[in-house]
Amino acid sequence: MLGTRMATKIIKDRKLYFRCDECSFLYENKNLAEKCEEYCKKYHACSTEITKHAIDI
Ligand SMILES: [Zn+2]
Repeated sequence: MLGTRMATKIIKDRKLYFRCDECSFLYENKNLAEKCEEYCKKYHACSTEITKHAIDI
């Protein structure tokens, strides 16, 4: 899809993470990061169902 941004890949301590470009939460799972980004863009808010899977690095 044109105009759809994908979650950004982040490499930290040799591990790969995916960042939601809207809320900057990080995920180990690309699907979750993309889901988060989709949700954030659509509702301009985070879904706690999704962000509870976010990780702290
Ligand atoms: Zn998000």
